[in-house]
Amino acid sequence: MQRKRVIGNWKMNGSRGLIADVIDRVCADSYAAEVSVCVPFPYLADVRNQLARHELKVGAQSVSEYDDGAYTGEVSARMLKDIGCELVIVGHSERRRYFGESDVAVANKLARLLEVGLFGVVCVGETLAERDAGKAEARIEAQLAPLHGLMAKGCDASKFCVAYEPVWAIGTGRAASVEQVAAMHGLIKRSLGSAFDVLYGGSVKAGNAAELMAIPGVDGVLVGGASLDSKEFSGICRAAG
Ligand code: PEP
Repeated sequence: MQRKRVIGNWKMNGSRGLIADVIDRVCADSYAAEVSVCVPFPYLADVRNQLARHELKVGAQSVSEYDDGAYTGEVSARMLKDIGCELVIVGHSERRRYFGESDVAVANKLARLLEVGLFGVVCVGETLAERDAGKAEARIEAQLAPLHGLMAKGCDASKFCVAYEPVWAIGTGRAASVEQVAAMHGLIKRSLGSAFDVLYGGSVKAGNAAELMAIPGVDGVLVGGASLDSKEFSGICRAAG
C-alpha cells in the first residue's frame, strides 16, 4: 500500500518556541505516513536544521511565479531549493482570495517548482456560494485546467499532488462529508489520472483524520490549524496508518 501524505500548513503562524514544541513532539514518533510541515519563509532554515536527523520533510507555503530578478519581496523556487526546502504549497485559497492569485498564476508557480525539482502541492476548492449554486465541479475543473498544459510537457505524478480543500471547510470546524470528498477526489483523479495523489484539507483533526483518510481516493491530508498543536498533529500523523 502506498504511504499516505500528511502535510501541515502553519500559515502565518509560528515562532522559534513553536518550532521547538511541535517539531520535537512530532519527531518523537515514527509514522507509516510521509509527514511534512510547511512553515513561514523565515523559519524554513531553522526547521530544516531541526529535521536534519528525521524523515520529516520541510516545505514552504508559496513561491514566486518568476525566476530570480527584480521582484522586490518575492522568494524564488531556486532559493527554496537552495536552502533545502523539499515541497511547496501553491494556490491555497487564502492566496487566491487575499492576494488575487489566478489559476494561471498558480500553474506558473508550479512550473517554477518543477524547473528546480521541488514537489508541488496544488490546492483547489470551491466556495460555499459555488457549491450552493451547483458550480463546485465546474470550479474545480477550471482550477485543474492549466495543469493539463504542464502535464502535456511531461510533468507526471511524481512532481506534484493536488489538495482538495473546499473553502467553506477551511478553519470552520466543518469538514466535508464522506460523499462530498469521495465525489470530488474521483473527479480530480479522472481529470489528472489516477496516479496523482489527491489530499483532502479542511478542518482535519486527530478525531476525524482516520475516517477521512479511509475514503477511497484520499491519499492523505493537508492540515491547517491542527498542525500548530503538537498533540493534535501527531495524532493525525498516527491516524494515517
Ligand atoms: C488549510 O488552511 O489548508 C486548512 C486545511 O486549514 P484547517 O485545517 O485549519 O481547516
